[in-house]
Amino acid sequence: MAKLFFETYGCQMNLAEADSLVTKSEQRGHTIVECPEDADIIIINTCSVRLTAENHVIGRLGYYRMLNKERHDRDLRIILMGCMSENVGLEVKKQFSDIVSILWGTYNKDLFLDYIEDLVVKQESLGFGAAYSFMPATPSKEYSFKAFLPISHGCNKHCSYCIVPKVRGLEKNRDFQEIIDNAKQLVDEGVKELCLLGQTIDTYKHEGKRLPDLLETIARQSGAERITFLTSHPREFLYETIELMNTYSNMMPFLHLPFQSGNSRILKLMKRNYNIEEYLEKVENIRKIRPDIILSTDIIVGFPTETEAEFEDTLKAFKTVRYNEAFMYRYNTRPNTPAENFEGQVDEEDKLRRLDILVRTHRGIMSELLAGQIGSKTTALFDRESKYSDKIFAETGQKQYLGRTLNNTVCIVDSSVDLRGNVLAVELYDSLNAVMKAKLI
Ligand code: SF4
Repeated sequence: MAKLFFETYGCQMNLAEADSLVTKSEQRGHTIVECPEDADIIIINTCSVRLTAENHVIGRLGYYRMLNKERHDRDLRIILMGCMSENVGLEVKKQFSDIVSILWGTYNKDLFLDYIEDLVVKQESLGFGAAYSFMPATPSKEYSFKAFLPISHGCNKHCSYCIVPKVRGLEKNRDFQEIIDNAKQLVDEGVKELCLLGQTIDTYKHEGKRLPDLLETIARQSGAERITFLTSHPREFLYETIELMNTYSNMMPFLHLPFQSGNSRILKLMKRNYNIEEYLEKVENIRKIRPDIILSTDIIVGFPTETEAEFEDTLKAFKTVRYNEAFMYRYNTRPNTPAENFEGQVDEEDKLRRLDILVRTHRGIMSELLAGQIGSKTTALFDRESKYSDKIFAETGQKQYLGRTLNNTVCIVDSSVDLRGNVLAVELYDSLNAVMKAKLI
């Protein structure tokens, strides 16, 4: 049996798959080690969406090469798994042929366990191809009371900046009943919050059943205390999913709806298939159904040819919607995407300046929105201690716990009892930077 170390980068889908792999590895009798220095085999579950994620993995491989040279008892083996393997795996393997034993793509990740016992097998590139099998989701290794539950894999969109369709292939939907059974199983194992995952989750379809059917069945039957889903595509988005939030109290009133740019010409270049007017109309309709919904988004600044005026459009749309949470990036070229060859790349300096303006704008909006929640009562699922907990404990005898409210806002509570893993009623009484101060009620 092998000692395995898992290292995971990127999206929630990667995290969900890694959690399942860790569970399966343990069931097969392998030992999961806490640090790479103790491992026989390191599995790096990679991400190719941004250059920084790829560079980080290259840096890690450099470190592992050094680690391997210092070892005298056994060789370190590395399985490079996931999106980077699909995208640039052969180049990486060539560069690190001394330590990277296997390239494993984004398909059938669980089957790699069949190869672990004998890593000198001939195959060097595995897990690529058309057949994708969903692994049963398991409770998160970080927080056992939460779980990511993949319901689809891959994407049929072809946004010009995105590597996902290339590295994860076309969309494949998971069996409806299998998802329901998996959801119930997770709740039986102690999971309180389920997050359904799909690259464009609104397009889920299986034997006539769609996302609202799935959410409703899970809300009614699984026993989960909180249910949410990621990621919605503005064009495909279904209003029924918001209506369910009004019917089922365990549906979190939270929606991640990336808009990427506030300018319709740029959206067209990005091949997003909606314009900004359509996007804003959707937001307005969503808020008519659920006025207190919390929205989050993804934004890219400095897409090729984006002018200053077009960036201003993004800023304007951003201020119109007023997102509670925003994941903001400056565009960087990804190899093997259509936008790689676009002319009119924006200067790095301009991208950074635009990003800085956006980030500062977001901070201002977020603190106003948080202030607007002062005095409200809700529930929160507590998942961790704050990094200041020990300091607070030394001063007050109480520790500090962080949780997420039902609408996904981060809150912080002082308590002499360990709150982790509990869903508790709270009152939000103040805001501090990006979090709400709360007390138990
Ligand atoms: S919708 Fe666009 S950005 Fe999202 S995964 Fe698909 S191709 Fe990528």
